[in-house]
Amino acid sequence: MDEFSLIERIAARTAARADVLLGIGDDCALLAPPPGQVLAVTADTLNAGVHFPAETPAFDIGWKTLAVNLSDLAAMGAQPAWCTLAVSLPHSQAAWLDAFADGLFALADRAGITLVGGDTTRGPLSLSVTAMGWVPAGQALRRDLARAGDEVWVSGVPGEAALALRLWQQGQLDVASVQADADLEAVRLRLLQPAPRNALGLALRGIATAAIDISDGLSADLGHVCRRSGLAAHLQLADLPSSPALQQLAPGEAAWPLQTAGGDDYELCFCAPAAAHAQVLAAAAQAAVPVSCIGRLEAGHGVHWVDGKGAAWHPSRPGYTHFSGV
Ligand code: ADP
Ligand code: MG
Repeated sequence: MDEFSLIERIAARTAARADVLLGIGDDCALLAPPPGQVLAVTADTLNAGVHFPAETPAFDIGWKTLAVNLSDLAAMGAQPAWCTLAVSLPHSQAAWLDAFADGLFALADRAGITLVGGDTTRGPLSLSVTAMGWVPAGQALRRDLARAGDEVWVSGVPGEAALALRLWQQGQLDVASVQADADLEAVRLRLLQPAPRNALGLALRGIATAAIDISDGLSADLGHVCRRSGLAAHLQLADLPSSPALQQLAPGEAAWPLQTAGGDDYELCFCAPAAAHAQVLAAAAQAAVPVSCIGRLEAGHGVHWVDGKGAAWHPSRPGYTHFSGV
């Protein structure tokens, strides 16, 4: 297949919508954001061997390429609208591209985001999405507006994706096939098909003071909120959410480094006034996403954990960073 057949194969999947005045096929897409809304724009790239194991199924690569970008929109409280897709492919295999598109469009259709353009080149496998959404002016969930006294919350169960990655690195998990063991399969899917928390991000507008999505690890990502807001976080390990898979595969304290520093979960970490505690729970119930209150923000700086006895504890590595140690 040549470049244009590849593009045609992807373009055939996109549905028309009123706010896309001109979609795939011209030099630019023409888009019409609703009046009074601010455009939220984000880009994330996945490189083979860096962001996913080389043997990851094409469907999952498609899903995750979009999921990581939808997660950024969720963390801003933005309504997903449009995206572009830049692909660098080492080959032009129709079967691979179709499975990739199956994964990407399965999530796109669920999230209500429409592909409006992109770029297709030959090179090492790399996928890059730019996602756009909107949010009423003044209502975006930024990193720099948390306040002292706010409670710190996290959605879902951070740590499971990192557990899957570790088991894969140890040769105990084949990411490319369905696992017979239910716990192994649960963490495999958490790594390959993260569920971006867009419904929660939207429900938290007007309630949360700040939010971030957990891509590099809870401590590291909450650290960005603390730095940008000029505050310290005081957190309890005992309040971290867990799951049957974590309890089975990383029991007790073995879960702590995964829960506090494991990346790739794409859960939301957010802050809200203590007086809004019940409102947060109602918003989470409306979004059908479990949330846990794990601590508080105070004057100071840094992210501080204590164990069940009140003793200080910190992960040996707070989170993932590209280029560290190279
Ligand atoms: P140009 O020469 O202007 O860069 P291209 O030939 O790269 O245009 O692309 C033709 C059309 O196909 C454009 O509208 C572009 O946005 C779209 N397109 C190219 N690659 C992709 C892709 N991977 N996904 C979605 N749209 C794509
Ligand atoms: Mg181009």
